Amino acid sequence: MPELPEVETIARGLAQNLTGDVIESVWLGNKPEPLKSPPGEIVSTLEQACIAGVRRVGKHIVVDLSRGSSRRSPAASRRKKQAQWIVHLGMTGRLLIAQPDVAVAKHTHAILRLRPGKELRFVDPRRFGRLAVVRHGFEAPGSEPLSVGFEVFAGLFRKRQTPIKSALLNQSLLSGIGNIYADESLFRAGVRPRRRAASLTRAELQRLYLAVREVLNEAIAAGGSSVSDYVDSNGDAGFFQFQHRVYGREDEPCLVCRTPIKRIVIAGRSAHYCPKCQK
Ligand SMILES: [Zn+2]
Repeated sequence: MPELPEVETIARGLAQNLTGDVIESVWLGNKPEPLKSPPGEIVSTLEQACIAGVRRVGKHIVVDLSRGSSRRSPAASRRKKQAQWIVHLGMTGRLLIAQPDVAVAKHTHAILRLRPGKELRFVDPRRFGRLAVVRHGFEAPGSEPLSVGFEVFAGLFRKRQTPIKSALLNQSLLSGIGNIYADESLFRAGVRPRRRAASLTRAELQRLYLAVREVLNEAIAAGGSSVSDYVDSNGDAGFFQFQHRVYGREDEPCLVCRTPIKRIVIAGRSAHYCPKCQK
């Protein structure tokens, strides 16, 4: 499942490849699950819009759309200018840039035909991905982990009795942190995943704040090299350059102290930690 660094990398690749393109027409498949907005609304919002930019908000890909200026109705034009296409990749969703003569893959749910003579295709075998359009600006529910200030970050966990790992995964607090990067951040901060969020000291919160940013930025940097493969080909290129220190390393020696890494389950999700390095 793509996490924040993967989505950031994909969004950057799409921005490079698509900014300035005009969506000439839209084809939508007949499976209802991927469409979070009414199909007619998706089509009318996308068709003839120009892709003004692509960026990540939380774990969503936000495609900013513009329609240029309209003399007829400046107000309508302003509204249109704010329209956005929101893509959530779910478990297996991919956005592929393809030449029109390339065969359409199975499980393709949307095809955007673009003016330079290429297509953007949304493919998703398991159909947990979602496509939506919004007209008034998209906002993720939680704070953005790469730009939130320390005081706001620390305030998110004050008085919260859930395990810190669950709090990190709570998308209404921080937007976009998934299982892998929560485990990796807690390891670097030296904090056990089961600790009550409210029990973290200010020093621990400061370490965690820095660790989250460090982990995400490293993963984004590692993913950057494979982005063109990801969006141009069938998308099998992974993001494996990022070295996990605890995630998925149960019983393997800690890279710092050689103690075997432990795996526990918190609220149905696995958590990995070093019992010696993390308190
Ligand atoms: Zn250790």
